[in-house]
This record gives sequence, structure tokens and C-alpha cells, in this order.
Amino acid sequence: MNWILNLGIFVGTVVFMECFAWWMHKYILHGPLWFIHKSHHRPHKGWFEINDLVVLVYIIPTLFMMYYGYETNQWLWWIGAGISFYGIFYFILHDIIIHRRIKFSYRFQNRYLKRLIRAHKIHHKHLQKENSKAFGFLYATKEFDVS
Ligand SMILES: [Zn+2]
Ligand SMILES: [Zn+2]
Repeated sequence: MNWILNLGIFVGTVVFMECFAWWMHKYILHGPLWFIHKSHHRPHKGWFEINDLVVLVYIIPTLFMMYYGYETNQWLWWIGAGISFYGIFYFILHDIIIHRRIKFSYRFQNRYLKRLIRAHKIHHKHLQKENSKAFGFLYATKEFDVS
């Protein structure tokens, strides 16, 4: 029965992370940490953005959780695994599929992806800290559906 609990923790963590990332993006990155996140909203040279450093906020505690969880608390390991999965999924969607940090020209026809891409493009229309919309990464509301 333990695996059901572990799976529940894992899925719950992934869902929680999207809510947390939305909150962090809307109130922190477009708030007090705008001076860091700004680098992601402005044109720039090179591959690296200062905004990429935000990922450390997630990676460091996750590594601790997985390391200590492996030794002692299984559930802690599963929380870490959920955050890692979210991070990989986020990177594939946001950095590769939406921003094409790895160059390719394929146009996705999938409805979920089209909605997500549209929502994030609208988010990026705003070069300023204020009045932006669509702060989620893995989920966008119906409002952004491409019909
Ligand atoms: Zn933003
Ligand atoms: Zn973006």
C-alpha cells in the first residue's frame, strides 16, 4: 500500500509546485525580485539570463530532500522527486517548447500546448513588472484557448 501513498505525495507535489510557481512568478518575481526576473522579459545577448539563477532556489532544497529522504524518510524523497519532475517538465515546456532555447521550428498542433504557448506569449507581451497576465507554466486557463 505504501506505493499508493508515495504516488499521492509525488502527484500532490507536482500540482502544488505549479500553484507555488504561479504565486512566486506573480507576487515575487513580478514583485520584489523583478530586478532578477526582468532579464527574462527583455531582449538580451547570449544564452544565459540572470533569471536562470532562480532555479537554484528549487534545486538546493530538492537535493537535500532527496539525499536525506533516501537515507531516512521515504516521503521526503518522493517530495523531492515531485519537485524534480516538475522542474524537468517546466524546462521542456517553458525553455525548449515555448522559448526555443534549443532551436527547432516544429509547430505544435496539440491543443494543450497551443493554449499554453499562447498564454505565455501574452505574458511576455508586457515588458514591465505590472499588468502582466498568465503567470502559470504548466497550466493556462480557458481564456487562452486557441480556437
Ligand atoms: Zn514573468
Ligand atoms: Zn518565459
